[in-house]
Amino acid sequence: MPADAINLLGMPQGELEALFTRLGEKPFHARQLMRWVYQRGVTDFDEMTDLSKSLRQRLKDETEVALPQVLSQHDSTDGTVKWLFESGFGQAVEAVFIPEADRGTLCISSQVGCALDCAFCATGAQGFNRNLSAAEIVGQVWHANSVLPRRDNEARDYAVTNVVFMGMGEPLANYRSVVPAIDILISDLAYGISRRRVTVSTSGLVPTIDRLGDECNVSLAVSLHAPNDDLRDQLVPINKMHPIAALLDACWRYAGKRQNRYITFEYVMLDGVNDQAGHADQLFELLDGKPAKVNLIPFNPFSGNEFQRSPADRIVRFQNRLRERGIVTTIRKTRGEDIDAACGQLAGKVSDRVRNRLSEKRRRTATA
Ligand code: SAH
Ligand code: SF4
Repeated sequence: MPADAINLLGMPQGELEALFTRLGEKPFHARQLMRWVYQRGVTDFDEMTDLSKSLRQRLKDETEVALPQVLSQHDSTDGTVKWLFESGFGQAVEAVFIPEADRGTLCISSQVGCALDCAFCATGAQGFNRNLSAAEIVGQVWHANSVLPRRDNEARDYAVTNVVFMGMGEPLANYRSVVPAIDILISDLAYGISRRRVTVSTSGLVPTIDRLGDECNVSLAVSLHAPNDDLRDQLVPINKMHPIAALLDACWRYAGKRQNRYITFEYVMLDGVNDQAGHADQLFELLDGKPAKVNLIPFNPFSGNEFQRSPADRIVRFQNRLRERGIVTTIRKTRGEDIDAACGQLAGKVSDRVRNRLSEKRRRTATA
């Protein structure tokens, strides 16, 4: 395979069809190829037996299906599984699978690090390194589906039934890879996940929220975390550019494009910072009468960060204050704590053991 082989993983159907046409082949081969790669998990062209031998050779000469390299897998006692994927220069991104009775949710990463520097986030603390490609984003789902057992008794029996962009990075700051990746998640030739079951979580890039609403229309979660601009400026610095009023306007426009489906507002509970009754009242004023749900996230501490998690009874009181007045409010269950898989703890820490294994592998390849 040539060094400049085109990676077919993460390529949306339209682009694949154009590629086949360019190769002088019929565009419908794109559909066959997608079924092999995503639905049957096959990446070796030789196994794609409904493609002619000459086409397979052509593909081998010019293209590849290159998967992200998995550095490690961590299994939690509660069934949560976390993987680290190699992302260059000794760094890694993480994906977390959260099994529940009626669904399997994969939380995926969209960037190596993040530039937005929210005050309570481990990914933000590591700074921004680079955007992931569509192949690296879809590759996380491909890998989870290939190693996890399939679900029983369902037409579509992949382990991953729901995908949330709540891992490392700000998905709307990597729009050009995230949208093609979503295309594949929802395509019937790939995983066929409904748009409702794909959630993009953003800290509030207002113009891109509008664009996503026009072009993609998946479920939206917004990291609000504070009910007034003074506080949000400190916790979520992008608020200085796109303050709460502008952000909420964009949210209601987005909801309007989706038959007013609910937008989820994420709100991290920080002891003594944003968890008082007055904050709940301000939040109520912002969301009253709107298609909004609130998801309270108990803060997950990480080393080098000074915030504390709000006590459990205060989180419940905050929830009740909103619920009593009709705002649907849930508290996020923290899963995978024993493997550092909880929200905001994903930092792509490559352990020394893995790092050694990796550099050994590189040495071997270099000398081969
Ligand atoms: N960049 C996107 C998506 C990734 S973060 C965003 O900010 O929405 C996914 C969620 O985890 C966000 O709501 C984020 O604010 C939250 N989060 C970040 N750090 C956290 C922490 N230490 N404890 C709990 N939640 C955290
Ligand atoms: Fe980036 Fe989201 Fe973390 Fe903020 S919370 S630093 S936007 S990953």
